[in-house]
Amino acid sequence: MTILPQRIGSKILGLVGAVFLLSLVGMVVFYTGRQEATILEQHAASMGDLTDSVVNGLGTIMLAGYADIAQAYAASQKKSGSLREFHILRTDGREAFLDNETIRQVNRRIGEEEFLPRESESEERVLLESSPELRQAVEGTRKVEYRRQVGGETLLTYLVPIANRKECHRCHGGAQALRGVILLSASLERAIEAIRVTRVQAVQILAVSFLGSLFSVWLLIRLSIIRPVNRVTGAMARVSKGNLSQEVPVIGEDELAVMARNFNFMMAQVVKSHRDLSQERNKLTTIILSAEEGIVVSDATGAVVLVNPAAERLLDKSSEEIVADGFLNVVDDVEYVSAFLERQGADLPKTLVYKGRILHFHAAAISSEEGSHIGSASLIRDVTEEKKLEEQLRAMSFTDKLTGIFNRRHMEDVLGKEYSRSQRYGTELSILFFDVDHFKKFNDTYGHDMGDRVLVEIGRTAKEAFRVPDVPCRYGGEEFCIILPNTGSRGAYAAAEAFRKRIEQMPVDGVHVTVSIGVATLPDAGSESPEAFLKAADTALYEGKRAGRNRVILWEDVRQQGGEKTGK
Ligand code: GH3
Ligand code: MG
Ligand code: MG
Repeated sequence: MTILPQRIGSKILGLVGAVFLLSLVGMVVFYTGRQEATILEQHAASMGDLTDSVVNGLGTIMLAGYADIAQAYAASQKKSGSLREFHILRTDGREAFLDNETIRQVNRRIGEEEFLPRESESEERVLLESSPELRQAVEGTRKVEYRRQVGGETLLTYLVPIANRKECHRCHGGAQALRGVILLSASLERAIEAIRVTRVQAVQILAVSFLGSLFSVWLLIRLSIIRPVNRVTGAMARVSKGNLSQEVPVIGEDELAVMARNFNFMMAQVVKSHRDLSQERNKLTTIILSAEEGIVVSDATGAVVLVNPAAERLLDKSSEEIVADGFLNVVDDVEYVSAFLERQGADLPKTLVYKGRILHFHAAAISSEEGSHIGSASLIRDVTEEKKLEEQLRAMSFTDKLTGIFNRRHMEDVLGKEYSRSQRYGTELSILFFDVDHFKKFNDTYGHDMGDRVLVEIGRTAKEAFRVPDVPCRYGGEEFCIILPNTGSRGAYAAAEAFRKRIEQMPVDGVHVTVSIGVATLPDAGSESPEAFLKAADTALYEGKRAGRNRVILWEDVRQQGGEKTGK
């Protein structure tokens, strides 16, 4: 909790108010003080004048020898409205003219009974003899002024010493410096009331001036600061709620006007950037929604925030299900997706079989410009058809189109590998090389299509006739190869002979063909290279042709010059 005001207007108003109040109070205190002093001074001055005039009048009466008239004068003054007290005192503070002490002294001095003594005497003490003000008046022989509280009333009292002047000496002698002291008191209540009224008026003026000043300052602050600032802060608040089309009026040229202008300029920029961003986002959204690839995006917590229709189709799940499953479970394999994100797919298969389809999967973490993780995205593509096509192409690359058995390129690959294996491990390897007899003539007789059908049948029969590890290939035209791994010459010869017979008995549209087969076996034949090995089989085949066709010839027999061995 703070005790300071939160609003700028209240702060300024509080500060200005405090300064105003201080200066106004200072002024009021100063001027009412001055006013009070003036009132009291004037009062004292008029009292002083009154005192002087009373004392002078009294002196004159006394000098004329009318002491009793002086007493009567004093008594009359007591009743005067302006005076509260009027006493003619002896220097010891007793009321004069109440006993016969002075009359007797005067009569004694004059030598005759000039003044008649009073019939009744009394004594009244007005001031104590030790009273400091009386002592000051008596000893200083100067008028003393002081204030007293009497019965709850403030009195301004004067003690005026009565000098024992030369004129008095006849009656009173010259021994004493003073004849007595006149005490005059006037009430200060009217002056105090005047001061009170002045103070009340001053406080009223102060309150009015203070409130007026405060109101003026408040009005000024409100119009020139608060309202322009509120316009901008209000507009900012609306912007924060998403309403970007904000413009505040620019009034004048002061700093707040500059702020308002800059705000408008800034908002124009923001609106433009926002529009550009929206356009870009719309483009992106269109691309994502219409993409053939499935796209699933998550935020930093892994919660799915975007699923496009392709993803729903490929994963065979609704977007609600994908959202519910979570990003890591997008292809129902949390470990795979986690590992993919961690290792960026390194060492991991990029394709997976999902609900009977082959999907190409890619996932990547999305980072902000500062490098912090803000989400992940996965891209899913259906590659089922692609994979099938790839497989077909791959098969086509090593398959002979007409017969469906391996082609010459594949035969050369297999032969190279088997040749190396045989050389390394010393295992036996045989190859049969055969050619259709008089095929040119066959084509000429039955037509090329018929010739093709014969070749297809030979291929099919080759596939059926040989064991699984054996590799039948079409070498080219009507020439074929069978590679027989781990097979010696005897076994190869037997297989070749069986095959030859099978072809001989194989009718194609009621017509028969024969083949001549050359057999070569490692390590005896053509051990220098695969080509030499094949050439050896070809040599044996040639020998079979030369010997009359429809027969199997072993290369080793050819080498023994004429050691011919036939199946017929
Ligand atoms: P030989 O007994 O000496 O082998 O006599 P040949 O007539 O078969 O002679 P050669 O092997 O030199 O002739 C091959 C013939 O095979 C040539 C061609 O007309 C035929 N031929 C080659 N490839 C094909 C093919 O794909 N289809 C058809 N129908 N005929 C082919
Ligand atoms: Mg030929
Ligand atoms: Mg031929």
